[in-house]
Amino acid sequence: PQQDILLEVSGLKVAYGGIQAVKGVHFEVRQGELVSLIGANGAGKTTTLKAVTGLQPVADGDVKYLGQSIKGQGPWDLVKQGLVMVPEGRGTFTRMTITENLQMGAYLRSDKAGIEADIERIFGIFPRLKERRAQLAGTMSGGEQQMLAMGRALMAKPKVLLLDEPSMGLSPIMVDKIFEVVNDIHKQGVTVLLVEQNASRALQLANRGYVMESGLVTMTGEGQSLLNDPKVRAAYLGE
Ligand code: ATP
Repeated sequence: PQQDILLEVSGLKVAYGGIQAVKGVHFEVRQGELVSLIGANGAGKTTTLKAVTGLQPVADGDVKYLGQSIKGQGPWDLVKQGLVMVPEGRGTFTRMTITENLQMGAYLRSDKAGIEADIERIFGIFPRLKERRAQLAGTMSGGEQQMLAMGRALMAKPKVLLLDEPSMGLSPIMVDKIFEVVNDIHKQGVTVLLVEQNASRALQLANRGYVMESGLVTMTGEGQSLLNDPKVRAAYLGE
């Protein structure tokens, strides 16, 4: 049914000056789904996420969240409504401790007891963050910072969590860990939109996926069927 759709992007166009980066993209994310957006470098995945989360203006088309157009709304308003992104490159507050970073994720909340409980819950998901709770974020490894960025986003109580390339630049062990946690977060009921270069891992976890090429969605289907598709295998899985 229609009301299951949390996020609906239609005919989305986004430009940087004269350069059209996103040229009319359609996709949707339903309640409880994990949807993966894959595609080569420069396909327009990050730009799409930025437009959805209010970080980049929509030139044409529409973005609906919970049935309402959110075009023109700023990132703060959208975070408050549960649309929360973990950006590429993580963006943790390097001069703050882990605990302080997690508290910052809850800056739009006022339920003090709930915030404390959620910090403990996040320490449960990421024991590494608990061990290092007093360490400055800037002194942590890339993988630890990715965990922190995800933990901080969870502190905002997302209805839809948008992850931009969470595995980028991480060691194979850390990549495993990050995908395991993305899967756990989804299994705990958070709806996830996952942008990834690692098409194989992203499609393995996904209920559904979309392939982007040169600013357009060129293929869509269930995660498994995209994973088995010869064209996807040839273009994105190195076969
Ligand atoms: P990647 O995985 O490399 O981030 P992507 O699929 O996320 O790729 P985008 O980052 O959305 O792709 O880039 C889409 C296009 O827009 C590219 O051609 C890129 O050069 C261009 N672009 C992105 N950001 C800007 C910017 N700030 N100014 C001008 N052009 C930009």
